[in-house]
Amino acid sequence: MLQFINPLLHKVIQSISPCVLCGIDRQQHHSLCRDCWQQLPWSKSMVQRQEIDIQVACHYDYPIDRIIQKFKYEQHLHFQNLLAGALLQLRLPKIQAIVPMPISNERLVERGYNQSLVLAKMMAKALNIPIWQPITRLQQHSQKGLSRLERIDNIEQQFQINSTSKLRYRRVLILDDVVTTGSSIYALKQKLEELGCQKIYAACVASAEI
Ligand SMILES: [Zn+2]
Repeated sequence: MLQFINPLLHKVIQSISPCVLCGIDRQQHHSLCRDCWQQLPWSKSMVQRQEIDIQVACHYDYPIDRIIQKFKYEQHLHFQNLLAGALLQLRLPKIQAIVPMPISNERLVERGYNQSLVLAKMMAKALNIPIWQPITRLQQHSQKGLSRLERIDNIEQQFQINSTSKLRYRRVLILDDVVTTGSSIYALKQKLEELGCQKIYAACVASAEI
């Protein structure tokens, strides 16, 4: 509904709306009041997983962990503004397109949306670059009980280059909500390399300890 209201009016409504976390103070930074924004578990640093450098905005701690869970599993899509806002605090490299982490059709049906694509759309708009989705994800099986190598093998088999995909961008950014082991980012990166991408960066809202 809000997107049909003109942008100025939307800004006015936002400026008088209360913070989506504390519900008390006025919104100042991406749907949050100044205090709630400052108290997010900021990381704004690089973590390494599977020998890939991944830029992360926050640590996967309270309240960002709860916010991501609600955004991902409980349709609290209004948190997209805050989560994309956190990602935009990162010093991102020069890229030509954003590649959101794909999810399988089964997950899509279950959830109703791809949470990484929702964030990628906001980022793409803010950075004025396109979204690129050349890879499809097949059914995701549970990773529980698998060794590191089995897990990587299992995940790699899930990613497939779309038959119509051609190399269109050489410098891209993989975007995901949370990084834990990094094996899905690793698998997606392999496929993008197969397509001919030369610089593949990655960014996530939060990193969880393994
Ligand atoms: Zn607040």
